[in-house]
Amino acid sequence: MAYKNQEVAMLFDSSHCTGCKGCQVACKQWNMLPSKLGLNENEFTGSLQGPGDLGGDTRLVMTFDEKPSGNKYQPIHWAIGRRSCYHCTDAGCVAICSSGALQKQENGVVTFDTNKCNGCTYCQSACPFDVPRFRDTDGRIDKCTLCFDRLEEGEVPACVKTCQPEALKFGKREDMIAEGERRVAFLKKKGFDKAELYGVTEMGGLHVLQVLKFGHEAYGLPTNPKPNDMIKLMNTMKPVTALGTAAVVAGLAVSFLAAVGYRREEVSIEEAKKHWTPEQRAKADREVAELLKKEEAAKRGE
Ligand code: SF4
Ligand code: SF4
Ligand code: SF4
Repeated sequence: MAYKNQEVAMLFDSSHCTGCKGCQVACKQWNMLPSKLGLNENEFTGSLQGPGDLGGDTRLVMTFDEKPSGNKYQPIHWAIGRRSCYHCTDAGCVAICSSGALQKQENGVVTFDTNKCNGCTYCQSACPFDVPRFRDTDGRIDKCTLCFDRLEEGEVPACVKTCQPEALKFGKREDMIAEGERRVAFLKKKGFDKAELYGVTEMGGLHVLQVLKFGHEAYGLPTNPKPNDMIKLMNTMKPVTALGTAAVVAGLAVSFLAAVGYRREEVSIEEAKKHWTPEQRAKADREVAELLKKEEAAKRGE
């Protein structure tokens, strides 16, 4: 229970990471997520990165970017980054989740309950880091939970446990911030002028902090990320419909998004609906029909 009731964080130190990808393997193993195992089954990404992106069965990807160093004896620097959920304080995914599957815990972790997910994919649109991913096999979303099940038992996350050079640390958030600041000061003294600690204030404060040796742009991280504007739209729609329940808002949003032809890069609402169970589709259709009926009644002044 050691990590259940205090604000916690993971600290990733890019300057200690060797790019071994042991953390990726540990994540798959602990969370029992399948991988492609055949020879050359994964697409070549042009770098050491593999797989190329997060996915429905992949919660963590180490990213590899080559940067010129300006040093003739060691001409390339690797910017090795870490893509996974960052467990935002102002978590857009939680604010927009239509089923309560995504929850913010007291210790700062954004947990995910697969059994509650209805596959609506709104969380994908709300996340500025493009983290939650759709899983074709069961029509649901998946993302890192910071190994909440391990934290409940007083254990650190599986990826942290396996990291040999201690590029990953875990503990009280304030301690992780202090350690991150110490490392950044050290790196700056060594000549890495752009070194920074990312996540102290972004999205209200992240619970995965990162010491980034070459500055956040080199790792593809956004400057001053913000939750997607769609959350405001969804929250505005609740009082308008006066129906108030998250489920009904979900139904309304499905029809709204379909009507305006909303489409995300990887999966549209209509594509997601194909993976819903007949019960889920019927429920959404009932909610939209009920909403339209009430709106008609309101127009007639009933
Ligand atoms: S296990 Fe540690 S050193 Fe290896 S890739 Fe992950 S963070 Fe980097
Ligand atoms: S990184 Fe994205 S998925 Fe993770 S808590 Fe923040 S908004 Fe949610
Ligand atoms: S905290 Fe757990 S779920 Fe998240 S990336 Fe690490 S091993 Fe995977």
